[in-house]
Amino acid sequence: MDLVVVGAAIISDGRLLSAQRAEPPHLAGGWELPGGKVDPGESDEDALVRECHEELGIKIRLDRRIGGDWRLSERSLLRVWTAVIVAGEPRALEHLALRWLGPDELYDVDWLPGDRPVIDILAETGIT
Ligand code: C5P
Repeated sequence: MDLVVVGAAIISDGRLLSAQRAEPPHLAGGWELPGGKVDPGESDEDALVRECHEELGIKIRLDRRIGGDWRLSERSLLRVWTAVIVAGEPRALEHLALRWLGPDELYDVDWLPGDRPVIDILAETGIT
């Protein structure tokens, strides 16, 4: 069974939220879509809402799925949804930094390799 990791493409005012990882050491400094591992017995969607609350202090509403299963490693895959903020203002509670990226800035951060194909789709289809 693959480990499922979920990520949120949080879009607000035509900008995408990116978050800089603090750990583990080999990923620290890289930028990702906020999210994390789905717990046993938890739905993907519930996990993503929970992770964004834990990591950013916000409540999100999921919008649409981006693509299908994005392979991260032999044992793990990434599933991504676009999302909007319904309560709160994102804070870097577990990340080193947060950055909102406009349509021309999507590649201004050093995305984790697993997230890059998803960013390519967002860049092609637009983030508004
Ligand atoms: O955030 P968490 O540590 O739970 O994520 C599990 C793993 O999934 C990370 O170690 C990272 O390799 C990967 N990940 C990713 N892109 C994301 C979120 C997580 O590649 N947007």
